[in-house]
Amino acid sequence: MSKSGHKTRTIPLSKPWLDEAEVQASRRPIVSAWVTQGPEVAAFEQEFASLVGTPYACAVSNCTSALHLALLAVGVKPGDEVSTVSHSFIASANSIRYCGATPVFVDIQPGTFNMDPEIIDQTITDRTRAILCVHQMGMPCDLKAILQIAERHSLPVVEDAACAIGSEILGEGNWEKIGKPHGDIACFSFHPRKLITTGDGGMLTTSHEQWDEKFRHWRQHGMSVSDAVRHGSNKVIFESYPALGYNYRLTDIQAAVGREQLKKVPDLVKRRRYLADRYRELLGDIPGLLLPEEPSWARSNWQSYCVRLPEGCVQREVMQYLLDLGISTRRGIMCAHREEAYADIPLPLPLPESERAQEQCIILPLFHEFTEEDQDHTATALREALRANKHGPAS
Ligand SMILES: *Cc1c(COP(=O)(O)O)cnc(C)c1O
Repeated sequence: MSKSGHKTRTIPLSKPWLDEAEVQASRRPIVSAWVTQGPEVAAFEQEFASLVGTPYACAVSNCTSALHLALLAVGVKPGDEVSTVSHSFIASANSIRYCGATPVFVDIQPGTFNMDPEIIDQTITDRTRAILCVHQMGMPCDLKAILQIAERHSLPVVEDAACAIGSEILGEGNWEKIGKPHGDIACFSFHPRKLITTGDGGMLTTSHEQWDEKFRHWRQHGMSVSDAVRHGSNKVIFESYPALGYNYRLTDIQAAVGREQLKKVPDLVKRRRYLADRYRELLGDIPGLLLPEEPSWARSNWQSYCVRLPEGCVQREVMQYLLDLGISTRRGIMCAHREEAYADIPLPLPLPESERAQEQCIILPLFHEFTEEDQDHTATALREALRANKHGPAS
């Protein structure tokens, strides 16, 4: 195949693992005619809770709405500040602004792309109301260090676990799932770019019963009784609206799909960890190419596999070379502070590692049905692309 010629195959960046099981499950709510938040959502929540090991799990429309409710629950109000990373999908920082608060950005560690705990202290002022940490691309952030800092300042911790279903962190000698209450609230996404999908969807986990109750009111317009309770009652019930709420419901059609997806989590994580190990073998000897680091206390689900290009390589050219060979990639994770929507947000600290990661990294294809053959092809193509793209400092 020539570079300009016909693509013999196209390798996507990612692809959800969906099959006949999800098709069949989606029939249940449709046939029953109970299609929005009802029995399937309740079952999905229970099954999610038992998978990650949390007493409470509340399903919502997506992870962005989950983050919004989590920040409201821990008391983030207009004028407050929340310490977080800029190097994340923009929804992390946006959720802080939905509360009328200001994100204060902490730089990242270059090897894990996660919040650098050493810098958090510098962002804390008397207006700081919470820490919003992110398990970026499924790699657990250094929760132990972050929780210690939070405790010292009496601040709640919200975990943006959008990408981290199935990821694990070493507790007291045991591997524990992200979502088991470590911080105060963890928020998950079921967007198709994450490990499991319901089209769109989100989940909040916590050990605080009062917060779980709040989430349930807020997600349904602040209504005092849910549709399911009112429908199931043999007495007339008049609902009331004690507080401002939102429409952040997940539908029963989505939850029915989600219940099938949950069953696949162990296989999904196993396959991705195998493919990530394989990338390390295939790419480990390329001079100057840096592979993502997994700390000894973390087990990533490898939602994304992000490599740092050798010094002097031009990111866009490498990506184009791969695309010409039919291989889709993405550049490193965005930085919210560099977007026009954030032009008015003050930047008290420089974010050199965040910016470098965005500019020097590319995300390689990795998904459940990615074959070894396609992975070999991707690795060979990357090797060629880097060889063809030597703009090294010496030349
Ligand atoms: C995908 C993602 C979100 C947003 O999730 P949605 O379900 O699409 O709202 C938030 N934070 C991070 C880190 C993400 O990757």
